[in-house]
Amino acid sequence: MLPLVSIVVPAFNEAEGLPRLLAVLGNVLGALEGRYRFEILIVDDGSRDGTSEVVRAACSRDRRLRYLKLARNFGHQAALTAGFEHARGACVVTLDADLQHPPTLVPAMLEAWEGGADVVDTRRRTSAGVGLFKGLTSRLFYRLLPLLTGLPVGEGASDFRLLDRQVVEVLVRLPERRRFYRGLVPWLGFDKVTLEFDAGERSSGDTKYSLSKMLRLAADGVFGFTELPLRVALFAGVVGMVFGGLYGVWVLYQTMVNHATLPGWTSLLVTVILFGSLNLFVLGILGEYLGRIHEQAKGRPIYVVDRRESVGAGLESDDGRDAMCEVSRRARAPRGALADGER
Ligand code: UDP
Ligand code: MG
Repeated sequence: MLPLVSIVVPAFNEAEGLPRLLAVLGNVLGALEGRYRFEILIVDDGSRDGTSEVVRAACSRDRRLRYLKLARNFGHQAALTAGFEHARGACVVTLDADLQHPPTLVPAMLEAWEGGADVVDTRRRTSAGVGLFKGLTSRLFYRLLPLLTGLPVGEGASDFRLLDRQVVEVLVRLPERRRFYRGLVPWLGFDKVTLEFDAGERSSGDTKYSLSKMLRLAADGVFGFTELPLRVALFAGVVGMVFGGLYGVWVLYQTMVNHATLPGWTSLLVTVILFGSLNLFVLGILGEYLGRIHEQAKGRPIYVVDRRESVGAGLESDDGRDAMCEVSRRARAPRGALADGER
């Protein structure tokens, strides 16, 4: 039996670009057909633009396609998680729906996998059509992140990679809710090969990563992988204590020995503002960690599948992982229930 390879494609409002991706992917995979079997799992992250119709139409033409619809937009990393949990391949390739991750690299990735790599990561050499702001902030972020976290995450990191089944199994079992795969995968270790690619422009439409989604991802990258900010707060506190203490001694000396009553309005105000804002800053950092603990403690699922929409071989017979969906299906049944004769 040929090994099964899963291609996972998270898609949020990608109706326009998906047909082109599927065509290119179809060509690339077609050439490898004698050596592997493929499944292409489109994870629809709550699209509202007809993505579902496009994929459904494609599903009826291509037996390799499976479609998993999430109940709403849970975000790129959550969609990837859904993909990992539903993929059945001996290895899983994740790539974006906008053709910025060239499917033509998949054969080289498979070759590296056959050569023994558990993780075939990619690095974006160049990126066409990226705005000045996104380019600069991304470069800055991926320079800072390894310094802060000690993780080997370099410039041009992306979620275009191949993972062996054993790595996917570990990822799926991780209890962590706020996932940042660009950090988690290197954190796991395993034998890794890195390939390079040039990202073209988006095949259609605009980026689906809004500024707030980008900030959230960046925060997950930092707060998920280092406690350094907490220690920075401690450090600032110690420095403040030392200087504040010395200043306090000096003030006491002035008052009690020299009996010099100083005007002191400026120094007072500066100190109040400085330490007031430092307090808020530190509270904010605590809040970031606390919020994550709170989210983890609630234990809500990372994503919810809309079972009524999902199609493709095997999705309906998945094991217990989709208990949530079964619940939602049962809960909905009375509303849409029709007498058998009415169907
Ligand atoms: N995406 C998603 N959910 C989201 C945002 C994006 O599934 O909330 C998908 C999107 O459809 C694409 C991939 O994640 O396949 C990367 O998004 P995009 O290309 O917009 O990001 P960019 O390349 O601009 O960083
Ligand atoms: Mg993109």
